[in-house]
Amino acid sequence: MFASIIIEYNAQKLDKTFTYKIPTELEQKIKIGMKVYVPFRNQKIIGFVIDIMKNIENQDYEIKEVIKIEDEKLVLNTELMEVGKYLSEITMCSLITAYQTMLPNSLKIKKQKHNYELLEEYLSIKDLNKAKEYIKLYKKRTKQIEILNEIIKKGRISKKGISSTNIKQLIENNIIKIEQEKKYRINVENNNLVIKKLTDEQKSAYEKVNFSNYKTYLLYGITGSGKTEVYINLIKRSLELGKTAIMLVPEIGLTTQIAKRFYEAFGSNVAILHSSLSSGERYDEYIKIMNGEVKIVVGTRSAIFAPLKNLGIIIIDEEDSPSYKQDNNPRYHARDIAIFRGKYNNIPVLLGSATPSLESKARADKSVYQLLKLDKRVGNAKLPIIHIVDMEKEIKKKNTIFSDLLKEKIWEKINKKEQIILLLNRRGFSTFITCSNCGYVYKCPNCDITLTYHKSSNNLICHYCGYQKRKDGKCPICHEESLNYYGLGTEKLEEKIRELFPSIRVIRMDQDTTRNKGMHEKIINDFKNEKYDLLLGTQMISKGLDFEKVSLVGVLNADTSLNMPDFKSSENSFSLLNQVAGRAGRSKILGEVVIQTYNPDNYVIKCVQNNSYDNFYLHEMQFRKRLKYPPYYYLISLKIIGKDYDKTIEYAKKTKRFLESNINKETIVLGPTTAAVFRYNNEFRMQIIIKYKKDNELMNTLKNLKNIFININECYLEIDFNPIKV
Ligand code: ADP
Ligand code: ZN
Repeated sequence: MFASIIIEYNAQKLDKTFTYKIPTELEQKIKIGMKVYVPFRNQKIIGFVIDIMKNIENQDYEIKEVIKIEDEKLVLNTELMEVGKYLSEITMCSLITAYQTMLPNSLKIKKQKHNYELLEEYLSIKDLNKAKEYIKLYKKRTKQIEILNEIIKKGRISKKGISSTNIKQLIENNIIKIEQEKKYRINVENNNLVIKKLTDEQKSAYEKVNFSNYKTYLLYGITGSGKTEVYINLIKRSLELGKTAIMLVPEIGLTTQIAKRFYEAFGSNVAILHSSLSSGERYDEYIKIMNGEVKIVVGTRSAIFAPLKNLGIIIIDEEDSPSYKQDNNPRYHARDIAIFRGKYNNIPVLLGSATPSLESKARADKSVYQLLKLDKRVGNAKLPIIHIVDMEKEIKKKNTIFSDLLKEKIWEKINKKEQIILLLNRRGFSTFITCSNCGYVYKCPNCDITLTYHKSSNNLICHYCGYQKRKDGKCPICHEESLNYYGLGTEKLEEKIRELFPSIRVIRMDQDTTRNKGMHEKIINDFKNEKYDLLLGTQMISKGLDFEKVSLVGVLNADTSLNMPDFKSSENSFSLLNQVAGRAGRSKILGEVVIQTYNPDNYVIKCVQNNSYDNFYLHEMQFRKRLKYPPYYYLISLKIIGKDYDKTIEYAKKTKRFLESNINKETIVLGPTTAAVFRYNNEFRMQIIIKYKKDNELMNTLKNLKNIFININECYLEIDFNPIKV
């Protein structure tokens, strides 16, 4: 037998398919969709089996043999093989990159693979008569006898904590034996499973979802309207139909809270997949899914590739979240993969959000998607009152961080023993450090970005490439001790709160405080259990969290995201502010929100204040139409990247000329301009934007362009279809 195997062919990651002979001992085991090791140019490399043949036509070259199967348990099924082809098509990545992307990280290691299977050892009796005899004969070996008695009593016991010297004799004399059993690292109990009864409004949305064929639904429900319970009930229906379900959530922080709710509803029927699991946990969860031991997968972006069989529904919560778009190769959007799998399985796909992306809302308006609405908060909860504070006036009063109103509200809520959330979408201490003597500004040596000072580690860090350097207090140019720190980050905010409100118990949640495993969960649980009065953090705290006692949300600087030079900056700002405001007053207490801004008249801020997604949508759609942005036009972003300044610009210009002579008249090519961050990681980046409505030749043109770049050494090309920032 023979196998067609694709391998990564060269540095450009091109696919090549080769035929290998399957050695007899692997004939029964090898399957399409498995990863195997094959010899290639005196190396041992990884490939994917894409076909298996009984015979091949006589060939005059030598056919090499497959060396071994990487892991027999890991097979991409027929559906996922198709998903891989689709992924490689829409992102123009190689097929092997697509397949590698679809398998969990821990399984992508190319060289020696670690064995992730966790085995637990148990002791049990091998020969009861011998055991009884032994007890009689060797009464003095008290420890051994104690162990033996326990095994007899319980049938078997865990070997954990029992030293081998104590049981060595027992094993050698064939009295007891060691048994190994596969264990999962994450185990859930099936106690008191609860699924809430839906309210009338939830029920009517739930009932509109049809399980008998493919359709995409947009569940547009305001914050606190109980979208999660609708998801849970839909998944329950899927299980009742004998099917499975995937539920995507945007952030790891959110996964823990939602996963908890899912465990409560479905117990051990749930597997979770996200990046802060250990490699072993990830492996275990993946195996559970492959073996069909779970029916529901809850996870972040890449969980869309979960190998569930017999899918019944796919749900994407907070569908507008940027985290669903991968920002390195392959640049796919989980929503596109969800829709592909929805069509493949002929099942519903549900996108949920309080602030749908403009693209999805526009599709719902055109009936491409079916719109489902939840207009009310669950129970008697009311939407919060939103106050807008003009920071320009506050600065005159010397209030640089907290406005009078925010201070007053913080005290008010603390005195009532309620809780507070503060959003500041910038981590670190100071975001800008200059020397007042010579004017030097600390910048990353590899990028065009100012370094952020992190006080706890005393480091200056580039938030783009991760470059770090220790801060020594002196200007590196004039050597004066005259450094000034500007810009407010979460670390400094925490310090200021401790100074201003010493009696308030504060906890901070951002990338820096959640680096260690389990920290997301711990912070969320501690805040929920009222160990703290105030939670402050970056956008990590803005979505999905549900705390009953939170009655005040403060936004320190609403302008950070508003001032980004990006076509989606208004949309992202609206979504962030509306979502974080939605954390207040979700239960019996009325919520209040204080938004501090230098642009109080900006329409985004106005729409947030009136809680009017619909007005924001209409206004923003006009802007998109005028400037020819999505959803009116499709975008493609090309980056031409190289180490040499002149060459990069030269190839960017050549690229533009090539495009212009090969595209439709209606298609627009903008640029080349310098990318938002021109120098990044010691490389120069030029950008070209393509805007088009319909262009049948465009994909081919881009493929040709890609092929041209393969032979250029000085530069490379990055293509981003439907970018979420340009
Ligand atoms: P959303 O995701 O739409 O912002 P959630 O799903 O977090 O809202 O629900 C808000 C709150 O309402 C949660 O505390 C949830 O437990 C509660 N809730 C939702 N639906 C119901 C229901 N049918 N019965 C009782 N409580 C509900
Ligand atoms: Zn950098």
